[in-house]
Amino acid sequence: MEAITIGNKLLVMASTTICGRCGTPLPNPSSTCPNCGARPSQGYQGRRAARPRKNPALAAALAIVPGMGHIYLGHNLKGLFFLLSCGGLEFLGFDLDLSVIGGLLGVPLGAGGLGLYAFQIWDAYHEAKRIEAEFV
Ligand SMILES: [Zn+2]
Repeated sequence: MEAITIGNKLLVMASTTICGRCGTPLPNPSSTCPNCGARPSQGYQGRRAARPRKNPALAAALAIVPGMGHIYLGHNLKGLFFLLSCGGLEFLGFDLDLSVIGGLLGVPLGAGGLGLYAFQIWDAYHEAKRIEAEFV
């Protein structure tokens, strides 16, 4: 909570939303600025531009190479894990039971390597969607 005095009016703020043009605290995040009349979206555009956007479709496309979707999203360790689990160990000839790793990640047991591969594409897509949702 934050109390701000504007002229002779005391506004008690439930959030710290401010006008992107003049900096006046907005009593309602969806209302236009009472001071300069700027629409609130003008302020939000500046904040969005400062944060990297993540494209769910691109994340899923990159995940065709196991782990690349997660690395794109900044989840480097998770991406590396998928890369090693789906590709590296099998490529090197290890007889790894991927259904165990799949079970740890919530993939239905018995799905095996193909299930884990499909899961990491699905997870990259939905993780990107979740990150995008934080912008709204
Ligand atoms: Zn303003």
